Amino acid sequence: MNLFNFIKANISILDVVSEYATLKKAGLYWKGQCPFHNEKTASFTVSPHKEIFYCFGCHVGGDVISFIEKVENCSPIEAANHLIDRYKLNPPADLKLVSSETSTQERERYHELCKLVSLWCNENLLKSPSLGSYLQKRGFTKDSITYFSLGYFPGGIAAIKNLITAMTKHSFLPNDLLEANILSEGKTILYSPFEDRLIFPIKDHLGRFCGFGGRVFKPNDERPKYYNSRENDFFQKGTILFGLDSAKKSIQEAESAFLVEGYTDCMAMVQHGWTNTVATLGTACTIEHLKLLSRYAKSLYVLYDADKAGHQAMLRLTQLCWQVSLEPKVICLPPKEDPASFLTSGNDLKPLIKQAKDIFIFFIDSLGSEFASKQLGDKIALIRKLIDIVHNIEDPLKRDILLQKASKVLDVPLETMQNELNRSLDRKTNHATSEEDYEHEQAVPPTFQRLEKKIFCAIINNMQLFNNNNEKYLLEYLPSPLRDILKKLKLEKDADAGIDFIQFFDKLHDKEKLYVSSLLLENEEETQPSTFEQLLLQLHKKNWKVIVHDVKTQLAQAKNEGDTEKIEKILHDFQVLKQTIVKNFV
Ligand SMILES: [Zn+2]
Repeated sequence: MNLFNFIKANISILDVVSEYATLKKAGLYWKGQCPFHNEKTASFTVSPHKEIFYCFGCHVGGDVISFIEKVENCSPIEAANHLIDRYKLNPPADLKLVSSETSTQERERYHELCKLVSLWCNENLLKSPSLGSYLQKRGFTKDSITYFSLGYFPGGIAAIKNLITAMTKHSFLPNDLLEANILSEGKTILYSPFEDRLIFPIKDHLGRFCGFGGRVFKPNDERPKYYNSRENDFFQKGTILFGLDSAKKSIQEAESAFLVEGYTDCMAMVQHGWTNTVATLGTACTIEHLKLLSRYAKSLYVLYDADKAGHQAMLRLTQLCWQVSLEPKVICLPPKEDPASFLTSGNDLKPLIKQAKDIFIFFIDSLGSEFASKQLGDKIALIRKLIDIVHNIEDPLKRDILLQKASKVLDVPLETMQNELNRSLDRKTNHATSEEDYEHEQAVPPTFQRLEKKIFCAIINNMQLFNNNNEKYLLEYLPSPLRDILKKLKLEKDADAGIDFIQFFDKLHDKEKLYVSSLLLENEEETQPSTFEQLLLQLHKKNWKVIVHDVKTQLAQAKNEGDTEKIEKILHDFQVLKQTIVKNFV
C-alpha cells in the first residue's frame, strides 16, 4: 500500500467532495452542481462505491486525490498532505516516504523561510518611524497593516547581518537566502534588493508565504518603484493573486471579486470594506488567474487605473475572458484616478459598481471610439478581431446581443457582422486540427457499443482477466482509446504482474483517468452479468467478418513467405475459434 491508497482507504470521497459541492443521492451515485464549471443543471457525479467522481458537463473526473489536486490547484503530494491534515489521518511512518518527498520538503522549507523573513520585516516596521508616517500619510490604518502583514526591510550591512543571525536560529543559512533571491551576492558583501523598501508579503491561495513585493517610500529614492521576488518553482506570478488567501471567503459569500492592479489598491479596497479584492503582482492578468478566481466567484469586477495602460490591460483581458465561466465587468474610474486615490479621497464606489459594463460591451465601445477615424483596412482588421472574440462566446444569445451592439457602435450592418461571424464559425469547424480532434475524442464520453465497454470495465475491475490468451486479440479489436489504455496496462502488467487498479489508475494521464472514470460510472451493475468468456465470444461474433478477412490476409502473407508452420498455426487457431463460437451461439 502506498500513501495515496492509505488516504483513499481512510476517507470517503463523498465527505471530501461535499465540502465543495452540494450533493444529492441519485441511485448508486450522488449528484450536484460541478465545482469545476459553471452550470445550472447537476452534471457532477460522485460514485462512493468506486471512490471516483465525474462531471458529464466538463468531463473532469478522477479519484479523491485528483479532486483535491484540481479544486485546490496543487500537486498530488500536496493534495495528499492536505487531506492528511484536514481529516487528521495518521499514516504509518513507512508510507510517508513517497517518491517526490524531497520536492515537497524543499517547498515547505521555502514557504517557511518566506514566512520567517516576513515576520522579521514585520518586526522592523514597528521600529521604523519614517515608514510608519509614510503609511499614515497614505491613509493606511494599523489594522490594514496587520491584515496584510506589511513589513520593512532595513538597509545597510548591519541589517543584512541581523537577518542572517535571525534566520540561522531557524537553521536557514545565507545560502538559503541567496537561493530564494532574498539576498544577492555583491563583489565583497551580501546585500538585498529589498533593502529600504516597504514589504508586501505575498501568499498563495492556500495562505503559504511565497514571495515579496518591495516598494520604495523615501522621497529621494530613485530606484524603480517596485521590486518583486524573482520567479521560481514555488512562486509564479502568473498563478498567484495578492490577497486571495484572505479574500477567498468574502468572494465566495459575495459570489464576486474585485480585481485591481497593485498592492496598495488592494489594501485601500479592503480597508474600505471591499474585502473581496485581489491584485495581480505587477504583471498582466493571465488565464490561470481567471481560472483561479472562477473557482470562488461568479462575477468579476475589473478595476484598473483610468489611464491608457489600464485601458490596454482591460482590452487584453477581454480576449481571455471567454475561456472561463466568469462574468467580467469593467468599472470605469474618473480620469487620472486609481482605486486607492479614488477611495482615500472619500469617493463612493457603489454608484460606479452599478454602472459597471460587461467587459465585451466595454471592448466594443472602446473599438467604436477609434473606429471612425481608421482606414478601411484597419477597420476590417478591427471587425475581424471583434468577431474573433465574439465567436468564442458559448452563449448564442449573448453572441447576438454583442453583434447587435457592435453593429450599432461601429455603424456596420448587422447582416455583414452576422455573415462574418458565420464564416468564422465555419472556419473553426472545418479547420479543427488533428490535435483538437484528439482532444475532442478524448474528452467526450465514449459512444461505442455497450459490449466493448463491458469488456473493458470487466478488465478494469479484475485485471487478471486480461492475459496472454486474449490480449493480442483485444488490442486488435477494441476501439481506441480503450485499446490505448489496455496497451498501457499490458506494459504495466509486463513490468509488475500484480499491479492493481489504483496503481494502474495513478499511471494514466488525466484524460485517460477521466475516460476510465466515466466508463466505470456508466457501467451499471447488471442483474444477470455475463461471464468474461461470454463477452469475449460476443466480441468475436461481432467482429467475425473482420476476423475472417484478417485471417485471409495473414494466410496470404504466410504463404508468400513459404512458412508452413505459421500457416498451420493460423488455420488451427481459426478452427478453434470458429468451433467455440458455433458451440456457444448455435
Ligand atoms: Zn463540470
